[in-house]
Amino acid sequence: MNSSSDPRSLAGRVALITGGGSGIGLGCARELVSVGATVVLAARNVDRLSSAAQELRTLATNGAEVVTVACDVTNEDSVREACEKSAAVGLFTMVVANAGYGTGGPIHLTSLDDWNGVIGTNLTGAFLTIKHAVPHLSANGGGSIVAVSSIAGPVTHRFMTPYDVSKAGLEMLVRQTADELGCRNIRANAVRPGLVPTDATEAMVNYPPVVDDYVSQMPLGRVGTTEDVGRLVRFLLSDESSWITGTCISVDGGHHLRRGPNIEPFMEMALGEARYPAGPSN
Ligand code: NAP
Repeated sequence: MNSSSDPRSLAGRVALITGGGSGIGLGCARELVSVGATVVLAARNVDRLSSAAQELRTLATNGAEVVTVACDVTNEDSVREACEKSAAVGLFTMVVANAGYGTGGPIHLTSLDDWNGVIGTNLTGAFLTIKHAVPHLSANGGGSIVAVSSIAGPVTHRFMTPYDVSKAGLEMLVRQTADELGCRNIRANAVRPGLVPTDATEAMVNYPPVVDDYVSQMPLGRVGTTEDVGRLVRFLLSDESSWITGTCISVDGGHHLRRGPNIEPFMEMALGEARYPAGPSN
């Protein structure tokens, strides 16, 4: 499958990255173009995709191209078209199912819209991405899929239930994909980032009671970078990891060794006593 003898090279291959215009998705794209992969950035905000593409073209090596496609991962036709576009660009063998977001709130006050929005994007969106990508990967002799989960996949985060459930489901989706499609030389793995400063986490990163709690639970004592995650994703997409499938790998400074983050100060500020249903405490 590799056009180069260097197992780290991704030259001549195409990667679809959902949510590739910002944050962790863009960090993955930077790593991939630097080893020659052509990337297809798929998201809703086309202006942001264009400026990401402009930056990535300055980093591209070995003939790597950068393509953008407007895509809403909650819309099946839109995802199918993004996969078709990826296949039209070249040898489509790699997928980064990264699009996602979270909400904060107690279970008893979580609206059905918030629940459906998070599950629809993070879990159903990844399902649609994998569903429509795998026929192309299979036709191309196989490939590698990486889903961006979270420390929230295995570890509870009070007041973030839709997000945690979406990531736990995503990890089972990855294992299902790995088990069912290994026979087509398709690998599937998840990465579990800890706290990384991005648009999505700006409020947490800028609120000392929360960010300090995160860092206090990390043996390596610092928040992550998009490069920390991108390098792991690049490894999982490359032939260097050709016997690794069905795993979920933490990239979180060791946070998973300790307890989940405490975002209660946000909830207390926003809701006071209403953050819990009325009733006696134990
Ligand atoms: P981000 O910069 O806000 O990236 C999220 C991306 O998802 C955006 O580019 C957004 O683009 C895209 N997206 C959202 N809904 C979409 C939809 N319906 N269709 C297509 N694209 C959609 O935040 P991030 O932190 O990099 O998050 C990326 C992933 O990492 C998420 O899955 C998140 O759960 C995960 N993660 C992040 C952290 C962290 O600390 N940052 C930790 C663990 C896991 P558009 O708005 O243009 O569509």
